[in-house]
Amino acid sequence: MDIVTIDGPAGAGKSTISRMVAQRLGYDRLDTGAMYRAVAWLLDRHNIDPSDSEAVADICKKCDIHFEGEKIFINGEDVTGLIRTPKMDMLASQVSAIPAVRERLSELQQKIGSRGRCVAEGRDMGTVVFPDADYKFFLDASPEERARRRKKQLESAGEIVQYEIILKQIIERDRADISRAICPLKPAEDAAIVDSTSLSPAQVVDFILSEINKKREKS
Ligand code: C5P
Repeated sequence: MDIVTIDGPAGAGKSTISRMVAQRLGYDRLDTGAMYRAVAWLLDRHNIDPSDSEAVADICKKCDIHFEGEKIFINGEDVTGLIRTPKMDMLASQVSAIPAVRERLSELQQKIGSRGRCVAEGRDMGTVVFPDADYKFFLDASPEERARRRKKQLESAGEIVQYEIILKQIIERDRADISRAICPLKPAEDAAIVDSTSLSPAQVVDFILSEINKKREKS
């Protein structure tokens, strides 16, 4: 399957890297974290308690998500600018542990990816959603480096948040993503692991592209 999967923890640089890899290959990019964030936003909008699994399952089954370039729409509403806040970080992580949410979003993700020529980023792309992807990567970095990157990213969106708070949230989100019962965050057995702590985005992209080329030459 002509799909590149890039999984990894919060703040590992998946968005930047997947965007650059997709551009270099001329592929589409599928940001699955944005989909979990959009659902979190929808539940918040309708004041639905994430622990009310029936209400969550109901709204999720009916929801529709689509992308237009870098923009994400849920039920026709453009939520691109509304989903990257610390509140949505935590809520998205919480809703991602709900089976009905994962089921619905995995189904939508597979539908979008079925055309191939896609760089899919998330937590379970190589393990669950696209187990037959040809090229799998797991991007990691130290929690401190990820917190620094996240702080910069939030600042460029106009949000000023203390480094210590971000680091604490990153560690908390890692713990929740790694230990959840369904689709926990872990590298696929056949994924190449990339530690980007002391690498520039360009170096990470070069590594990924060279791995893809090596594999293509072999097949
Ligand atoms: O990648 P991003 O930080 O935008 O993801 C937000 C949250 O969505 C993550 O903390 C994770 O809990 C969840 N997620 C997931 N599976 C994915 C993508 C994201 O559980 N494939």
